Amino acid sequence: MAILSSRIGKADLPTSPPFVKPRVMDSAPLEEEVTIPREDGLRPRAFDDYIGQSSLKQVLGIAVKAAIGRGDPLDHVLLYGPPGLGKTTMALVLAAELGVKCRITSAPSLERPRDIVGLLVNLQPRELLFVDEIHRLTRVAEELLYPAMEDQRLDLTVGKGSTARTRTLELPPFTLVGATTRAGALSSPLRDRFGLTQRLDFYCLQDLQAIVRRTADLLTVPLTNKACMEIARRCRGTPRIANRLLRRVRDFASVKTKMTVIEASIVKEALDLHQVDSSGLDESDRRLMKVIFHSYGGGPVGLETLAAALGEDPSTLESVIEPFLLQMGFLQRTQRGRIITSAGRKHLESIEVK
Ligand code: ADP
Repeated sequence: MAILSSRIGKADLPTSPPFVKPRVMDSAPLEEEVTIPREDGLRPRAFDDYIGQSSLKQVLGIAVKAAIGRGDPLDHVLLYGPPGLGKTTMALVLAAELGVKCRITSAPSLERPRDIVGLLVNLQPRELLFVDEIHRLTRVAEELLYPAMEDQRLDLTVGKGSTARTRTLELPPFTLVGATTRAGALSSPLRDRFGLTQRLDFYCLQDLQAIVRRTADLLTVPLTNKACMEIARRCRGTPRIANRLLRRVRDFASVKTKMTVIEASIVKEALDLHQVDSSGLDESDRRLMKVIFHSYGGGPVGLETLAAALGEDPSTLESVIEPFLLQMGFLQRTQRGRIITSAGRKHLESIEVK
């Protein structure tokens, strides 16, 4: 019966996602960004404030309007893509557009069945439940979710052995928004239960510039357009990093200069100090490229070998560091392993000459 009387206690609150090491260019939130909710004031709250990702906004905008028109909950949504591109933000936007609350959790904090049961039974009709890192759900949690997503019911086993019985609990209609950096790691039964599956892409320069401008205005940081562009060029196509770089530039400007306006030269100086190069690569990216280039003759080299050589976790390499290098065309994944492309070689040569 313990399962039925479960309540969400303090210990059940979402824990911060794991991260390997704090880097100014890490697209996962840094510890201070999780413990002090710095990102909250910066998050867009409506489709109109959410910059870029036009096809995502179009698809979800239509789905939201249709759901409101019918008075139904929004269909379950799966958002996937590298960290920091706006998956959590989009879940909050969806809730705001639907006029409902969004409950935020992450799969690692739903380890025990009662964690997920507690969340589901406490939902109000049409509310959103956002589950980050959904590929990390346990099998038990997943199996509880299947009937919940499909038929709004929970099948609970109460008691043990010969006295075990199944109790069914009706749930209010709700929307599950799942987010993952690794869509391929999701089991196919879970993937199939999402009515809408959308990928988030890295942002183009123009959108990043608009994001930096928006954050600078919110934080009242006086940036010239060229300075905005300089941050946009170095943030790996990722809004979370853009916002973080802007804060580092603001710190630098307030301590090191007496200028009332922050110009591109200040941005360059500040970001050089953090070893962020002109393409937005940081020390970890360059180390990965250098190891392939210098130790493995440019590749191919397998993921496990590369991870061991770098002392990194293979999944971090695959889901956090590599996507941007692939996007930049500096790295290629082949069946035989990772290869540095000629653009990658050129970039390495240009920075090694400096
Ligand atoms: P994810 O959940 O994909 O890791 P988040 O939704 O937490 O990423 O986004 C990180 C930060 O980036 C947010 O705090 C928000 O300020 C900013 N951000 C993300 N997407 C956008 C966007 N489309 N427009 C403006 N800011 C954004």
